[in-house]
This record gives sequence, C-alpha cells and structure tokens, in this order.
Amino acid sequence: MFKRKKLFCRAALILLLLVVAAAVVLALRSDLRFIVKQQLSRLTESAKLSEVREDSLDLESIDISDLEQRGCIVNQSLMIVNTDNPLPGNFSAEIYEYKDSGAEFNRCAHKSFESLSQAVKDETGENLYIMSSYRTAEEQDDILSEKGSDTAMAAGSSEHQTGLALDVYTDGYAGMGFLKSAAGQFVNSNCGEYGFIIRYPLFEKSVTQIDYEPWHIRYVGLPHSEIISLEHETLEEYIESLEIGKFYEYDGYIISRQQGESLKIPQGSEKIVSMDNCGGWIITVKE
Ligand SMILES: [Zn+2]
Repeated sequence: MFKRKKLFCRAALILLLLVVAAAVVLALRSDLRFIVKQQLSRLTESAKLSEVREDSLDLESIDISDLEQRGCIVNQSLMIVNTDNPLPGNFSAEIYEYKDSGAEFNRCAHKSFESLSQAVKDETGENLYIMSSYRTAEEQDDILSEKGSDTAMAAGSSEHQTGLALDVYTDGYAGMGFLKSAAGQFVNSNCGEYGFIIRYPLFEKSVTQIDYEPWHIRYVGLPHSEIISLEHETLEEYIESLEIGKFYEYDGYIISRQQGESLKIPQGSEKIVSMDNCGGWIITVKE
C-alpha cells in the first residue's frame, strides 16, 4: 500500500517537474512559443475549396499557344519542383532584378514581395531582406556539395532555380533564428495573405523531403497561398488535391487543374495560367 503511494508521489513529482521545465523553456524561448501557437492553430484554421459544376460556368476553350493573345497571364507561379518532379532540361525561369536591389527572382513574385516586405516594416518596424533567391543549376550543385542532401536539393530539383523561392532574414536573425524575430513570426503567420507559403513546414519532411525551413518562402500567388497556409498543407498535398478537369471555387476565385493542348478558361477579371511541372496547367480566375 505504502509502496504504491510512494510510486504515485514520485510519478506526480516527475510530471510536475516536466511541466515546470516546459513552462520555463517556453517563457524563455519566443520561437518555441510561436511554434506551439502555430501548431495549435491547426485545430481551428481551415480554408475549404468547393467544387463547381462545369455547366454552371461560362467557359472558353483556348489553345495553349494562344493563351496570352486571348487575355490570359501565363506565369510559372504554381510549378511543383522536387526530386520526383525535376525541372525539364530546357526550362528557363522568368528572372528579373527586383527594384535595383541586386536580387533576382521570378517576375510573378515581385509585386507580392514588395507588399509582404512593406507589411513586415509597417507591422514590426523590422526590415525583410533576401539572403538567397534565384540560383542557376551550377550554383545549386555547389550548395549541394557544401551542405549535403538534408538541406539542399540536387540541381534540377531545387525550386530556387525557378526564382519562386526566397530565403529571407531580418537584422540579426537568419536561419532558424529568424523565428525569434518579430519579422520572422510575422512572415510565418501572414505570408499566405501576400501570395507566399512556408514551403517546408515543421513535421512535413515525409512529404517535402526537406527539414523545416521557416526562412524559405515560396511564391504561389493568391488565393492558393491562403488556402495552403490555412489548411496547413504542403504544396505537394495541395496540388494533388486538385483533381484534373474539375473546377473549384474559393473566395471569389475559380481554380482548375487541366491537361491537354487546349484549356477551358472561365470568364473573369484576371485569368492566370501556370504550368504545374507535372504535365498539366493550373488556371486561376478572379471572378
Ligand atoms: Zn531556400
């Protein structure tokens, strides 16, 4: 009887010590507090796509080669690039210099990055800088031999070669330390509203093949960034969830993933078509 009571007291003491230790660690580490808060938000946040019947839409069939002449913006925003989906050998990224900064990245992401960095400045008073953006295949190969395959992809499998990925930092806080800064926490909580996602989230290595990188943001455009962020999905899971040939609605946008030489494009004020790098196209139309 006494023995059992003693054992119970010891277990309760160990549990209490663990709780106190966790509380002390969380009190001292703002980055860990932020991670716990983010994981808890998985329980409440969601952004569901609803399927739309094809016959309820006003569709226009357009050949791939005529998309731009027929009023569509063709960009590379929703390409999926990883070891299973490497870039084609003849791929050429639409790279432009960002505002005379010396940083070069995909032109479809320029406006959104400008809005995101302005919001970081307005909300936190901190500056958002780019550590690394577009890389050539040769530069990617150099990084792979330097860092190894846990943190770097082989040439052809890195989305840095699309110019859609940006490694960002703020004064004094880079890499994992980025999460200790107000700018890092703002970017990780809100980049979805500005067209970007945290491409390699925590606990998703089995899907992305890359460890958690809170500094690596990836442009996908609205409303995709918002859906992926609120659903706490990876880009792989999101693109796979779009069934070929179907139409979806989300917050005033129609989204469709299609294959073939001609695409069915809904009417709208802005029509964006991006290749998905899996043999298909993703259509995003603002109603
Ligand atoms: Zn990166």
